[in-house]
Amino acid sequence: MEPLLVVYGDFNCPFCYALNEHLITLGLERKVQWRSIEHEPEADLHRMDPSIKDELEEELLRVRTKAPGLVITLPGGRVNTGTANRAIAAAYLSDPARAVVLRGLIYRAYWIEGKDISSPDVLQELVLLSGLSSRVEDKAVNHLLAQWQQAWEQGPFQLRIPSLQWLPDQTTFLGLPLPSQFKTFFDQHALADNQSTLVCERQSVANILIADDDINYAHKLQAQLKDAFDVRVVHTSARVVSLCQEAEPPDLVLVSVSLGEGDGFELCRHLKSQEKTTRLPIFLLAEDYSEEAEVKGLQYGAADFLRKGGSPVILQARMKTHLQLRRMTEILEVRANYDSLTGLHNRREFEHVLENEWRRACRVQAPLTLLFIDVDHFKAYNDHYGHLAGDECLRRLGEVLGRCLSRSGEFVARYGGEEFVALLPGVEGRAVERSVENIQRMVEKLEIEHQASPDYRQLSLSIGAVTQVPQLNVSPQQLLAEADQRLYQAKSEGRNRLIYTERP
Ligand code: GH3
Ligand code: MG
Ligand code: MG
Repeated sequence: MEPLLVVYGDFNCPFCYALNEHLITLGLERKVQWRSIEHEPEADLHRMDPSIKDELEEELLRVRTKAPGLVITLPGGRVNTGTANRAIAAAYLSDPARAVVLRGLIYRAYWIEGKDISSPDVLQELVLLSGLSSRVEDKAVNHLLAQWQQAWEQGPFQLRIPSLQWLPDQTTFLGLPLPSQFKTFFDQHALADNQSTLVCERQSVANILIADDDINYAHKLQAQLKDAFDVRVVHTSARVVSLCQEAEPPDLVLVSVSLGEGDGFELCRHLKSQEKTTRLPIFLLAEDYSEEAEVKGLQYGAADFLRKGGSPVILQARMKTHLQLRRMTEILEVRANYDSLTGLHNRREFEHVLENEWRRACRVQAPLTLLFIDVDHFKAYNDHYGHLAGDECLRRLGEVLGRCLSRSGEFVARYGGEEFVALLPGVEGRAVERSVENIQRMVEKLEIEHQASPDYRQLSLSIGAVTQVPQLNVSPQQLLAEADQRLYQAKSEGRNRLIYTERP
């Protein structure tokens, strides 16, 4: 029987790619009926103007904020997906199980390897890789694609992707759910909030929260804003605080200063003092304006202070400015934590995560393992094959590492140059060795020729690893230094190997 949960997605949407990867991680990729549609039929890889690049980059960064472990790189352009959709529809008609494999291959070819999936040659290669062979009539393919497209365009999806729908009761979810949200939607057919802001659409809609105990005013304001934003209304400070902790917190809040007998100022101060909400733009709205109140509000961190009942047009314009500023700040913050070549986290983020993991492992007295990974004879590789080939190599290695170390809690980063680091919380002994063996095997399978290597004729990695149950009086830098020493030892003992120490 066909799965009853339908997903609408397009190959050129990073949120759809992330959803497909979530499904694979959850082992549920065969439990949905994935319908490929064309979100932007006019997209064309060969017409990559700067605005498309910015748009793609922004979407990619938004995906990364919500799916930090996801391996994803910026493609060369927004590709037309008509040909890829024809391939997937043909696969679906002839062998649905292999169509699932092909779907994953096409997504990864585009979002990891940067391949042009509008090229028939590229697709032919992927079709062969997925083990598909039989031909399907063009007419049947066209019919199926038209059916999918129509169901999406006419369904309650507001032309957003990804979108999900249970066939029996028609419950829907719009946008990319977090894996936990997906699981709830999968198990219970419903979610309290049926949409995420992580969607491909011409213009993303911001989540706005109005907090006012004057119910009439709050609803009037909601009506004024609802065409431009997704607006929710709450009546207490406690509710604002709890909504800000949820998976989809508001992008901006409008707080009445009179909320809960003059609590609005305090709520503003509280939100600004919390790490999670310190960047949240807060507008304070007051019944009566006074300079004193405005100064107080701004001192408490409000983005703006306005009198209730003013022009809704001006209010919206001011809100949009702050939303834009916030979006830019977030993009810059995320960008600062990633390596642009491999798409992995960078050293800066690694140091931050190492500190946190060390403290957490200290608290629960659990082992923490650190891997220090270095490419063998990489200078010789660059000298022999050139720097561009060297870069391509690092990108592919980053991809393998990201994939091999994608279990919950595992973390991998490019430390610098041809060095990578990884953290494996709660893992020790044989499990560490198995994890490293898997990495070595996957790198070997890449079969990257290295004629200039004095040891092997293929690109290889040396890895130093240390496991320790962290102690408060020891710094995490010592773990790093020790893994580095083990790496040095792996190099001197012949490279392409692991040297591993477990400390008591
Ligand atoms: P070993 O096996 O002892 O690690 O030898 P090695 O040649 O890998 O080590 P070495 O530290 O001498 O050289 C590292 C080389 O990595 C030097 C540099 O050319 C190359 N490299 C570092 N970063 C990049 C990069 O971003 N792109 C490319 N293409 N090469 C890089
Ligand atoms: Mg090195
Ligand atoms: Mg090296």
